[in-house]
Amino acid sequence: MLDPDKAKEIILEHTPVQAPQDVALETSLGLVVHEDIKATCAVPAFDNSAMDGYAVKLEDLENASQDSPIALHKLDYIPAGSRQEQKLQSGQCFQIATGAEIPPGANAVVMKENVTVEESKVWFTKPPKPQEHIRFQGEDIEEGEIIISSGEVIGPGQISLLAAFGYANVLVKSPPRITIITTGSELVDVGEALEPGKIRDSNSYTLAALLREENCFCDRVGIVKDDPDLLLETLKARIDTDFLLISGGVSVGEHDFVKGTLKELGVEEIFWKVNIKPGKPLFFGKNETTLVFGMPGNPASSYVVFEEFVRPSIRKAMGHSNVEKNLINATLEEPVKQRANRRQYLRAQLRKEDNQYLVKPMPFQGSHSLRSLAGANALIIVPANSEALPTGSSVSVRSLTTI
Ligand code: AMP
Ligand code: MG
Repeated sequence: MLDPDKAKEIILEHTPVQAPQDVALETSLGLVVHEDIKATCAVPAFDNSAMDGYAVKLEDLENASQDSPIALHKLDYIPAGSRQEQKLQSGQCFQIATGAEIPPGANAVVMKENVTVEESKVWFTKPPKPQEHIRFQGEDIEEGEIIISSGEVIGPGQISLLAAFGYANVLVKSPPRITIITTGSELVDVGEALEPGKIRDSNSYTLAALLREENCFCDRVGIVKDDPDLLLETLKARIDTDFLLISGGVSVGEHDFVKGTLKELGVEEIFWKVNIKPGKPLFFGKNETTLVFGMPGNPASSYVVFEEFVRPSIRKAMGHSNVEKNLINATLEEPVKQRANRRQYLRAQLRKEDNQYLVKPMPFQGSHSLRSLAGANALIIVPANSEALPTGSSVSVRSLTTI
């Protein structure tokens, strides 16, 4: 059976990076920048005041002290967003707002809190430092500098830069089109009542939520019964997408029709079955446009398969250089008793204490377990054919959060 590391390698080899696309700034969070982006002006764009106060000439106040305060004649108020062209002369000061342009002739700003105002006179009790409370043109960013490099991920700070430099749109690797199809005659949708023998579809909602973590939206097609004709009709209508995620129906059951149907539609099987637990029946295939993941229907299997194989592929397509969540070494707080001849991914709780990572497996590890998913923030990766691992053993762990 295919080695999981090899399976991931094959998937990544077959995953093309998305073409560039212009997206609106508001929808760019989490996407990857396609080309270097430059500052369209300096920041600050002009010398401006860092305080609400008074713009003065330093020379006028050199001898100011508590004992012999100096008064300057107050001119207009300069609010933020306006420009004062009148040149400041000796003996004068302008009142000025934070962010307002420094008027010509001024070379320092004195905080409002440090002066006394008496009608048109403003009293100063100490000399300002040269250029005090002035934010200078270009001191943060110079015009033409690269502010975001190709390949960088857009976070809130990058959004701030893009907005400041007038980028209402930004060229990114286009978010992939992703379609989720859920198969299973036992499934009903979340709003429906359970009849005997039925369960609610949780996978398609879980997968959609995992995709939202990657800032991806998907087309959730809903439930298709285990009927080859219905499956063929649905897959035919939905195959034109970048990623097709199919839940259920890829195992060896009499009613597992997904693989056969995909074949009929001309999807090339690249592999089926990986040496992991849970998630063994994973199918990976493609046609000219679409990467197809046939994911086993058990909730824990589908979750693990997403984390280990689908997420890296989607992240590669989106242009990320770091395609996986972190792998860390942690110490077992409780033993791992399960042994398997396949590599195991145990849902687990990871925490940090005294600069050390500690991890314990969730008590119930059935591949149908929903509770283990909700309670877990990590996967313990147990090598194939490993002995039982006592408390205190060092294990490799995939963090599912940014712990
Ligand atoms: P399958 O991979 O289709 O053989 O399904 C394996 C197990 O997962 C069965 O017990 C299914 O009932 C369950 N299952 C399949 N699809 C879903 C789903 N969308 N949500 C929750 N459980 C599912
Ligand atoms: Mg099924």
